[in-house]
Amino acid sequence: MASEETSKLELSLKCPPICASNLQLIENSTYVILGCPHCKIYTRMTKRHIYRNYIEYEGDRIHLKWAELIKELYVRISGKAHQESNES
Ligand SMILES: [Zn+2]
Repeated sequence: MASEETSKLELSLKCPPICASNLQLIENSTYVILGCPHCKIYTRMTKRHIYRNYIEYEGDRIHLKWAELIKELYVRISGKAHQESNES
């Protein structure tokens, strides 16, 4: 069995508002994950969701709306960071 492909990319987006580390974008066969390796907060989105919401077909051309995708992940992780700081 082949091991699962995972790729990681360090972004220049900062962890909101907790530690200001660079966030990581992690991708495997099922999910795209945005997270802070320092605070251990992550938000993930299934690729199915991405295909449904962030891909536009124009004839035989496919556009992936990357900027909107990253923005939604960032909004989600901001919400998570906010929740966790309220809980503690
Ligand atoms: Zn952090």
